[in-house]
Amino acid sequence: MKIRVLGAYGAEGLGQRPSAFLVNERTLVDAGTVTGALTPSEQLEIEHVLISHSHLDHMAGLTYLTETLACFSAQRPLIVTSIAPVADALRTAVFNNVVWPDFAQIPSATTPILKYRSLAEEAEQRVGDLWVTAVSVSHSVPAAGFIVHDGSRGFVYSGDTGPTQALWTSLRGLTGVRAVILECAFPNRMRALADAARHMTPDLIRRELDKLPPDVPVWIFHIKPQFYQETADELSRIDAGRIVLLEQDKTYSL
Ligand SMILES: [Zn+2]
Ligand SMILES: [Zn+2]
Repeated sequence: MKIRVLGAYGAEGLGQRPSAFLVNERTLVDAGTVTGALTPSEQLEIEHVLISHSHLDHMAGLTYLTETLACFSAQRPLIVTSIAPVADALRTAVFNNVVWPDFAQIPSATTPILKYRSLAEEAEQRVGDLWVTAVSVSHSVPAAGFIVHDGSRGFVYSGDTGPTQALWTSLRGLTGVRAVILECAFPNRMRALADAARHMTPDLIRRELDKLPPDVPVWIFHIKPQFYQETADELSRIDAGRIVLLEQDKTYSL
């Protein structure tokens, strides 16, 4: 399984793109940025998009992606998949003909650019060539983490979350998990904001590690560009062998 980091950050900075990961060329996990990282022909290869939650830094790229697909008259719909409240938020708050056109009706309701799919929570379901389990996590809006598996190996993606248990509990008994992709947003001195907005800090991650399966590498994404170096320095003092800061534009293999 190949994971290409289109955007590794929790916001946009100069040359720093919001969170998005392309799995095996055809499935996006979050879509904070898409068209700023892929050529149109690469965009046309995408069949499924898993969206963790409705915040812009995880879905803004979906808007421009749908426009590319419309411009190139894509022959199949893009399937946008999440838990029900997230799919509903995208439908009603973004693709609502106010913020952006309703591409679930364009060019027609029978042959749309975009289709929504809601996943039952904590149940493994087929998404393209992959198996996906959506698990609600702890964020300021309804949000899911995802366990993504190809039948032999896979990874866990936290989405945006403060400390959580359900996501790690769902991993029990699952073999082949090769990485935990875990958010970290703010440095330790901003703990009050992290608590209010339901995000991780390096100190919170240090505690979270005890809940994770041992010996699985933890790949960090979603650091706010404004505090990148400070947060990275604090993360480097946790467990240098286990914690990796994901690099934008790099492809990781499981
Ligand atoms: Zn975010
Ligand atoms: Zn968020």
